[in-house]
Amino acid sequence: MIDLKKLEVWFITGSQDLYGEETLKQVAEHSQQIARSFNGASQIPVQVIFKPTVKSSEEIYHIIQEANTAKSCIGIIAWMHTFSPAKMWIGGLKIMQKPLLHLHTQFNRDIPWDSIDMDFMNLNQSAHGDREFGFMVSRMRLNRKVVVGHWQDPEVLEQIGGWSRVAAGWNDWQGAKFVRFGDNMRYVAVTEGDKVEAELKFGYAVNTYGVGDLVKVINAISDAEIDKLTVEYEEKYAVVASLRKGGAQYGSLREAAKIELGLQAFLQDGNYKGFTDTFEDLHGMVQLPGIAAQRLMGKGYGFAGEGDWKTAALVRAMKVMGSGLKGGNAFMEDYTYHFDPANPMVLGSHMLEVDESLADGKAKCEIHPLGIGGKADPVRLVFNVAGGPALNASVVDMGNRFRLIVNTVEAVTPEHDLPKLPVARVLWKPYPDMKTGCAAWILAGGAHHTSYSQNLTAINMEDFADMAGLEYVLIDKDTLLRQLKNELKWSDAYYKMKG
Ligand code: MN
Repeated sequence: MIDLKKLEVWFITGSQDLYGEETLKQVAEHSQQIARSFNGASQIPVQVIFKPTVKSSEEIYHIIQEANTAKSCIGIIAWMHTFSPAKMWIGGLKIMQKPLLHLHTQFNRDIPWDSIDMDFMNLNQSAHGDREFGFMVSRMRLNRKVVVGHWQDPEVLEQIGGWSRVAAGWNDWQGAKFVRFGDNMRYVAVTEGDKVEAELKFGYAVNTYGVGDLVKVINAISDAEIDKLTVEYEEKYAVVASLRKGGAQYGSLREAAKIELGLQAFLQDGNYKGFTDTFEDLHGMVQLPGIAAQRLMGKGYGFAGEGDWKTAALVRAMKVMGSGLKGGNAFMEDYTYHFDPANPMVLGSHMLEVDESLADGKAKCEIHPLGIGGKADPVRLVFNVAGGPALNASVVDMGNRFRLIVNTVEAVTPEHDLPKLPVARVLWKPYPDMKTGCAAWILAGGAHHTSYSQNLTAINMEDFADMAGLEYVLIDKDTLLRQLKNELKWSDAYYKMKG
């Protein structure tokens, strides 16, 4: 879907001229060796580009200026092999626009007890060199990721890899375009928000097109293209008999295929990374896009229903972050509860549009009436979703800032068939437990729409919040309601003071 190998993070080592040529030569060799090893590490999905050691304010300013404008550069890893006086970093850090990872490592893993001398000490100083750098970044109040440990430590590689995935998601938002067909679902609050502020803070633009503009593209789709796609449906899914060629509702399947092809053409033409629609505005459309939205999400587009552009954009960024990993990232909605005290859980779903990338096994392709919207019966994919660790994430507009709320959950493999529920669905248990998790979510103002992830971690989401300047509220195993309530109050005070 999204090739992360095309993206680069730049590995920049800081030093100073004081050490003399011999030491600096060794610094450069070590940095090259580390960058090479990062490039070979399966945990790191992007390219790591070695950059020559920086030793002065001018060199630092110049390399960061270059990183800012390099299109493929999505982030900077900085490491102070030796001492690098941090006043030299002020100018560069002041203009830095790419996410920063401060790697607090050291070339040698162990202290060479028998041979260690002052030359060795002179060369291997990151234990204090990185502290000087860290002070400056803290003094400037810049968000960054700090990773500590030897550069061959698998945990360090895992952390760098995770951060670079998050940086790819952030990079994907910069200059991204999302389209809204129709406006927000009438009277709904949480899906609203300040699109101007979002573009300023997050770098993506959201603009609206009338459904009629989309209908025009849908109606221009040829019969031959529709034939081809319906064959693909029949090959890929268990299509019910009535929708198959010769079946009584084959026309509805063709209509669904036409909507999918039209939507895809519209998105491709406008270079959009995602879209929203609303069942309240379907003028000229025969069905609400069901299978179309499900399959386009499967292809990597962001989507959310009812005009919810914040969730559509979040789904897209999380798809980029999880690219190449097992499992999916998907538009989700907390739908209904199982309040059995012995086994409480949430059933997540949507009217239709559950992302195909979550399907556990072959999906069924069915058609059923939709009790809302007053249009023809929509075609949809119906499937179950596998159990395992997952999380729900939601971005809300608090008026003076955006907040990212994350709840870690444990998905449960469905035990019941649900023969009369013709939509895709997921079952999960929120952490720390059903009652606390749901109460915490509601207190934090989390939306009913989320981006559901099977392959990203709470740490990934925290890194994303840091990059995006989002307030971050995590609900997990350690959440206590009274602490969370204080956290929300203190956070409110912080954002008021910050202005
Ligand atoms: Mn909804």
